[in-house]
Amino acid sequence: MNYADFYQRSIATPEQFWQDESALIHWNTPCTQVLDHSNPPFAKWFVGGTTNLCYNAVDRWALTQGDKAALIAISTETNSERSYSFRELQREVERCAAIMQSLGVGRGDRVLIYMPMIAEAAFAMLACARIGAIHSVVFGGFAANSLASRIDDAKPVLIVSADGGSRNGKAIPYKHLLDEAINLSSAKPAKVLLVDRKLAPMELVAGRDVDYAELRAAHMDAQLPVTWMESNEPSYILYTSGTTGRPKGVQRDVGGYAVALASSMKYNFCGNAGETFFATSDIGWVVGHSYIVYGPLIAGMATIMYEGMPICPDPGIWWSIVEKYKVTRMFSAPTAIRVLRKQPPEYMRKYDLTSLRALYLAGEPLDETTSQWIYDELHVPIIDNYWQTETGWPILSIAKGIEDLPTRLGSPGVPMYGYKVKLLNESTGAECGANEKGVVVIEGPLPPGCMQTVYGDDQRFVDTYWSTFTDRQVYSTFDWGLRDADGYYFILGRTDDVINVAGHRLGTREIEESITSHPNVSEVAVVGVEDKLKGQVAVAFVIAKNAAEVASDEQRAAQEKEIFAVVDRQLGAVARPARVFFVPQLPKTRSGKLLRRSIQAICEGRSPGDLTAIEDPASLQQIQNAVQNGL
Ligand code: ATP
Ligand code: MG
Repeated sequence: MNYADFYQRSIATPEQFWQDESALIHWNTPCTQVLDHSNPPFAKWFVGGTTNLCYNAVDRWALTQGDKAALIAISTETNSERSYSFRELQREVERCAAIMQSLGVGRGDRVLIYMPMIAEAAFAMLACARIGAIHSVVFGGFAANSLASRIDDAKPVLIVSADGGSRNGKAIPYKHLLDEAINLSSAKPAKVLLVDRKLAPMELVAGRDVDYAELRAAHMDAQLPVTWMESNEPSYILYTSGTTGRPKGVQRDVGGYAVALASSMKYNFCGNAGETFFATSDIGWVVGHSYIVYGPLIAGMATIMYEGMPICPDPGIWWSIVEKYKVTRMFSAPTAIRVLRKQPPEYMRKYDLTSLRALYLAGEPLDETTSQWIYDELHVPIIDNYWQTETGWPILSIAKGIEDLPTRLGSPGVPMYGYKVKLLNESTGAECGANEKGVVVIEGPLPPGCMQTVYGDDQRFVDTYWSTFTDRQVYSTFDWGLRDADGYYFILGRTDDVINVAGHRLGTREIEESITSHPNVSEVAVVGVEDKLKGQVAVAFVIAKNAAEVASDEQRAAQEKEIFAVVDRQLGAVARPARVFFVPQLPKTRSGKLLRRSIQAICEGRSPGDLTAIEDPASLQQIQNAVQNGL
């Protein structure tokens, strides 16, 4: 099929288009209206239709391919591996749902899930979906404060958690964090359900805390029919990564999400029932929701849930999983690929990767060097896809399931069906021409699968996302982009990541892209720093591929010069950073995104701001040291 026609139909006749797509999932009752857009920017999809996410992900397949693998939980932290067939998964989910019901959870109630990457976390999510409870998965290991604010936001009747997680072989106790968070919060849950992995101390609070294994034993034979949900009832709350400030609580529906995932599994990820999908993300992030738990299962695929590091016990671990489970589609993030690029390539070369058909990468800009490197190793399409927690599935990509359009280095591709993507001039709001930089926006209604609202705060939804331009109501992604003459988009960074050097507006991404082409650069962050003379100057922080080459002051000075020369040649002297600092690591969110705003704050002598999402606070100290020492 021709993608341009497919896309055009999705835009010109969205109701007909999505009505057709809705046949990909099971409906208990069909909808009475495909789209209700009478109260923009709010959009309701498949109004009156009833369905259930768990039924589509689990029960439906338990009926037709019950013995096929559904969930494969692998932990290199605890050296365990367990595969659940669709039938077994259904039984576990029914048990978990029955436990939840016995603890007083009903339709529309919130359940907060604060869990490591273990099978029970998926059971809990699916159990919520089964009984119509709204889950709010909070990344395991988040500090007590971040957890407390999410407890207050969701007011859960139940929290599902565990004694602890494990990272790099070290147990990370959860229970005391959880207790502290509940103490800090004003909305106390009535019950806390705990999985005891025997990794960390877990003292139960009498009357509140209950043990998963005990209750599971009591509900071994539970059979619990699904609760049919109206398509627009909420399915879950999920917070954005917090890269730019206070995370936003994205609320998603049931029916639209199921349809969007089913169609993206078909057209974007080309997954077939019976095959294995491997997304290396965490259930605490949107990729984990859409493409570890719901998407692959809705497509009847086995999905891999991996607890562990990409380089332990050795950097071949992911590829050994691909070989063993004959993974056909793999989904990861550029940051992880950059980590692997620093390892000896023998580790990935020793496995039989012939099952793999494509690698999907998302979450942050995919630089050309990384993309080219992994392509040269794998020889399968490397498919960048651009989207947000808010949208739930890709906005820009290449839908190989429709037409085998070529990918283009540095570009996540073209607008996906259903998304009316536009580029608008920041100051005039006029549409940009080819190769002209603008704000990436989406004209309403947002397609199925996208956020319904900010949980509990419709006004914040309107004010945050739909109020950037005064003369037209469009959804702003807060990302810069441009479109080349062939319609391919390029993401140039976030709208607050633009540097203004003596009147020239430069995207941090462009400078970073240029710097990564230097052979000894593994990773780089560029920020704009206040400068009396020029307004702002670019400052770069580089992780060297080979640290031995930047061990001495002289070496660093020499490599800085080389990097200047690279930028001068590729972008012009105006984009040349004022300084290049070499650091051992960069501050990132736990979902692997660069915290540029914190780096910038440190460079300007300000407080680094909200750090709830930071992975390793020591990274900020390293930036500080580099800046202070001037090296
Ligand atoms: P917050 O909104 O709380 O600041 P966040 O935007 O990092 O956090 P996410 O929803 O996890 O939270 O990330 C979405 C953002 O990630 C996009 O808006 C974009 O800036 C970036 N992004 C995602 N995928 C890509 C990609 N393929 N190429 C470039 N940027 C990407
Ligand atoms: Mg965002």
